[in-house]
Amino acid sequence: MILRLKNIGKYFPIRGGLLSRVVGYVKAVDGVDLEVEEGDTYAIVGESGSGKTTLGKLSIKLLDPTFGSIEFMGRDVTFAKGKELKDLRRSTGIVFQDPYRSLHPRKKIIDIVSEPLIINGQDPEEAHKIAIEFASMVGLTKDLLYKYPHQLSGGQRQRAAIVRALIYRPRLIVLDEPTSALDVSTQAQILNLLEDLKKEFKLTYILITHNLQIVYHLANKVAVMYLGKIVEKGPVEKIFESPRHPYTISLLSSIPAIDYVFSGGKINIPRITPTGEPPSPTKPPKGCRFHTRCPFVIDICRREEPTLQPVEKDHYVACHLWQKINA
Ligand code: SF4
Repeated sequence: MILRLKNIGKYFPIRGGLLSRVVGYVKAVDGVDLEVEEGDTYAIVGESGSGKTTLGKLSIKLLDPTFGSIEFMGRDVTFAKGKELKDLRRSTGIVFQDPYRSLHPRKKIIDIVSEPLIINGQDPEEAHKIAIEFASMVGLTKDLLYKYPHQLSGGQRQRAAIVRALIYRPRLIVLDEPTSALDVSTQAQILNLLEDLKKEFKLTYILITHNLQIVYHLANKVAVMYLGKIVEKGPVEKIFESPRHPYTISLLSSIPAIDYVFSGGKINIPRITPTGEPPSPTKPPKGCRFHTRCPFVIDICRREEPTLQPVEKDHYVACHLWQKINA
């Protein structure tokens, strides 16, 4: 097990009034358990505002949790500081959605990608040599390294961001919508590159995306998030071929011609369209958080919050209806 999140939560305070007092909280992640095995590509999916990016950042301690614990390679790193935090930083990386924003506009690419090594005491000349070596592995020529971010194409900038994430040879990388800012042909190249690098460097990925076709082709496990909670998780094939949670079904049924897109018609998913807009994460509904939009809502859904229960090996769902059917 490379990563274990236990009952992890992150609340962001909302301030208001003249004295800027805390008047509420955005409950971005609200009690999540996640276990990531070495070699996994674990996808986190959900609408915007579901908490998936916050969960990705918590996973590598780019954010401190409000509650819960983070175990990385068998060690509790929830409160890691100093050398322990430095070690964690070297073992993890992140690639953001928009490479243009994540690369310093006034620095040359070579300085941006070798910066983590130099900060940690590596001789700059040696750090540049390592950066050139890594850049050639991701298809960036040496001359591109001596340019500024605005002089590169979107795909080249994302390759530079990948070099920066890889330069320490980390074990775990969070990919936060790594292709959504790119055009379609470049997306495929970057996805192929990420697959090749995973094999080459024996990486584990946490893939945050709203693109379910990417999940099907790249990931082996998936967790579906709704309003800060995981509502269903398990192996990708099981969840795509027989989703149980109404929210998961609605996400999958939003893909046009899903039966043809995936596995030659093997999948036969009923169509569900949730009603209304998602509620605010500052005031999630009582009981099941999806009950205000769920076409199958029953009485208990409005009173009690369902917990994740196994429906079959490794496949978990948090839904009262399924628990009733399985009882
Ligand atoms: Fe729908 Fe109830 Fe299941 Fe929530 S618990 S998804 S409201 S059936």
